[in-house]
Amino acid sequence: MKLPGAPTARIEGNDMSALIKLEHVSRTYPLGRTGVQALRDVSLQIQPGEFVAILGASGSGKSTLMNLIGCLDRPTAGRYFLGGVDVAKLDHDQLADIRNEKIGFVFQSFNLLARTSALQNVELPALYSASRISARVRRNRACEALELVGLAGRADHHPNQLSGGEQQRVAIARAIANQPSVLLADEPTGNLDSRTSAEIMTVFQSLNQRGITIVMVTHELDIARFAQRNVFMRDGLILKDAPVTAPLDSHEELARWKRAEQTEPQLALRP
Ligand code: ADP
Ligand code: MG
Repeated sequence: MKLPGAPTARIEGNDMSALIKLEHVSRTYPLGRTGVQALRDVSLQIQPGEFVAILGASGSGKSTLMNLIGCLDRPTAGRYFLGGVDVAKLDHDQLADIRNEKIGFVFQSFNLLARTSALQNVELPALYSASRISARVRRNRACEALELVGLAGRADHHPNQLSGGEQQRVAIARAIANQPSVLLADEPTGNLDSRTSAEIMTVFQSLNQRGITIVMVTHELDIARFAQRNVFMRDGLILKDAPVTAPLDSHEELARWKRAEQTEPQLALRP
């Protein structure tokens, strides 16, 4: 039994409570004679409840890192623990299960099915979930997810009846419908204007406040400032990893945009 106040067993630099833990991870793509070293000896820990932005120029290894964290790919060297589980020890099916249960993905292109309603798009991943859930539960979860992203009133709309920002919110609802512990977003605002990006950040910040861990790739510093922590990458290495001193409040930013639109419409129209 552990006594209150007793020191917790903790090995320096090896935090057992981390949700995501990469230890000296490398990823080399076989290409040509030498291969492409997309990640070089990357170590990173993310705690449950964090909102982290990964920054870096194109080609710096951000997507490679996200694919590893999301169990879509495996390291060529090093170890990756997701929720304390050594991902290398899982077979193909177990990997698919853990991905389904623990991870939600959002991409730059919303990847919605065109001839399918918002609600059906959100329901889809649950169909592939290992835990068999009834159609009713599936539908309820999808409705709740749409509500969380502020789109309860758009459930019957098809993607072409929705704005870009709304489509991305449907994609976020789809990503959270399975109630994952971590939401991975690779350039989620890459196709959106600044104001719509701020709207997406209100969704991320409110989901994060509800306890979902978020890892978001962006190459925009302005967007990264909505997160609590910024990880800068270059040439497959982590260059800098630091907390954001005063994270932006998305609701305040959005209110600022709305005021600007009223007083100086020309200004607000600028990208
Ligand atoms: P980012 O997302 O930061 O733009 P990526 O992780 O996509 O960077 O790519 C990192 C490096 O790995 C780049 O040099 C890229 O060209 C290379 N790369 C990415 N995917 C592959 C692949 N499937 N095969 C070969 N090289 C790849
Ligand atoms: Mg990328």
